Amino acid sequence: MALAALVQIIPPRRRKAAAAFISSWMGAAVVSTALLVTLSSGRPRVEPAEVVLFLIVTVAADALVLRLDHGRSTEFISLLEAAICLNIVLFPAPVALGVTIGGSLLSHLLHRQHPIKTIFNLAQYAVGTVVAIALFHLIVADAGIGLRMAFALTLGMSSFGIINSLALSGLVSLLEERSFRRTLEDGWALSMITLLGNTAVGILAAVVWLTHPALTMLFVAPAVTLHLAYRGVVQTRALLEAVEAERDRANRIIIGASDGIVLMDPDGNVDVWSPATAALTGVRAEEAVHSPITSVLAGTDGDGRPIDLLSPMQEATVGEPTRTVEMTLAHRDGGTKVVELRHSVLFDAKGKCAGDAVIIHDITLERESERLKDDFLARVSHELRTPLTPIKGYAQALLRQGDAVPNDTRTGILSTIVERVDHMHALIEDLLLVSRIVAGRASLRDQIRPEPVDIGEVCERVLRSFGIVEPHRELILNVSEDGLVSIADPARVEQIVTNLVSNACKYSEDTAPVILELRNEDGWIAVDVVDRGRGISPHDVDRVFERFFRTDDPLTMTTGGVGLGLHIARELTQAMGGTLTVKSAPGQGSTFTLRLPAKQA
Ligand code: ADP
Repeated sequence: MALAALVQIIPPRRRKAAAAFISSWMGAAVVSTALLVTLSSGRPRVEPAEVVLFLIVTVAADALVLRLDHGRSTEFISLLEAAICLNIVLFPAPVALGVTIGGSLLSHLLHRQHPIKTIFNLAQYAVGTVVAIALFHLIVADAGIGLRMAFALTLGMSSFGIINSLALSGLVSLLEERSFRRTLEDGWALSMITLLGNTAVGILAAVVWLTHPALTMLFVAPAVTLHLAYRGVVQTRALLEAVEAERDRANRIIIGASDGIVLMDPDGNVDVWSPATAALTGVRAEEAVHSPITSVLAGTDGDGRPIDLLSPMQEATVGEPTRTVEMTLAHRDGGTKVVELRHSVLFDAKGKCAGDAVIIHDITLERESERLKDDFLARVSHELRTPLTPIKGYAQALLRQGDAVPNDTRTGILSTIVERVDHMHALIEDLLLVSRIVAGRASLRDQIRPEPVDIGEVCERVLRSFGIVEPHRELILNVSEDGLVSIADPARVEQIVTNLVSNACKYSEDTAPVILELRNEDGWIAVDVVDRGRGISPHDVDRVFERFFRTDDPLTMTTGGVGLGLHIARELTQAMGGTLTVKSAPGQGSTFTLRLPAKQA
């Protein structure tokens, strides 16, 4: 279709439908024009000068145009209807149509409108004008100037307006894929107001032209005033739309921000309370907005003193409007978060405080990781220093006493030194392994040499070695069946079980039993390491596998360790395709369960 090729401004997907729509309006224009010309009797007599004059008036009326944007399409508001009124009253039907469409065509060319827009506008103007002309002539007949004429013109132009609105909304809704009804509702009111204004001016101008032609010049003034009034309306509308778009954007930022956002008025009442703030505090926006900030947000500083949330607003100056405060924030559910409040106090043009915009940034994790790092340093230094003291003491004794040390004492001393050095070596190995874990799981998997391992045998070996250092403890191995074989790295399995048994001993009384339960569990070999020790609080139980996590205070440590054992154990287990979990209750002991894939029969 030739028209479809022309429709370059229309998105490709909707081109066909738009072409069909515009074509039907063109068809309707041709048919209605033909009907009007056929039904009009005789050759109309007109003054060519008058035709030219009103052609110019029509061009001018349509040229005083205002843009009204609807998404991708634009509606134009002009004084065209006033000119159409004049044309209808002053000229025989076909001439009135000719002057109207001719004038509008010239105005479109003058504005270098896109050919498609020009074709579409002229087509629907033609249909509308034909209807308006027909109604005018039907109602007025030969009644002359009077109320009947005004009524006929108003009715005719209203029909013109309705046709114009339907055509435009149809095209806009088609191009934007919006509902036709909504599009119509959007532009309806303004179109009708301008139409009635234009019609009234047009009727009056026609009456004056027919009675006192010279005075018609005076209508330039109301026409310009009307144009300015429309401009005001259009500008206000554009401004409102811009304000709404701006408000939408700000709302999206407030809703989407991961940091909490609070806006306070100068009296300290909450104006804005973002969803992130609600999540941080447990206080819903409906409750917070309009309430004093002090009733919905509370926190303390590092020394436990309450933070004064209003002081940044009271103390800020135009030169120094911002302040950052760190506080421990109390959540409604009883928990706490460490947050940074970044206050930006707002000032009006006169330098008076206009409120405070507060960004609440959750730094709990940062502070926690700083604390863990500090604890870790304290622990590693402690763990490395502790064996050094006896090593040095024993070595000095050997040096001082030389050959005087009896042989068996010397052997005892040297094996203690070797044992302590082994301990330090193990710690350094752990640190290196953790750095490999941090580097990536793949690098850890390289350390694993899987082969069939009899897990029962491994557990027995581990318990045997603990039997020597834990003479008062009952170490029990319960095996549900023999031949529980897994595909795993035997040295790593032994390392993991050793770590679990060592913890079970470390965190329970010297005489409390430690039990290993072994069973086959749907394709897994499961090992429970059960102790009756101090247990782990629900708050800590999920964290014991974290790197450097310990429940002991590093400064008053009652047990050795740097909080790496369980982390390494879980990482190694996972690298072998297994899982390591824990169940524990304070004061009632813990059960760590290691599951490794069973060897397929
Ligand atoms: P550590 O070398 O400090 O023992 P782990 O990673 O092995 O490090 O353990 C981390 C923390 O988990 C320990 O500090 C301890 O608080 C807790 N924990 C581990 N095993 C047990 C257990 N069997 N009973 C109670 N607490 C335990």
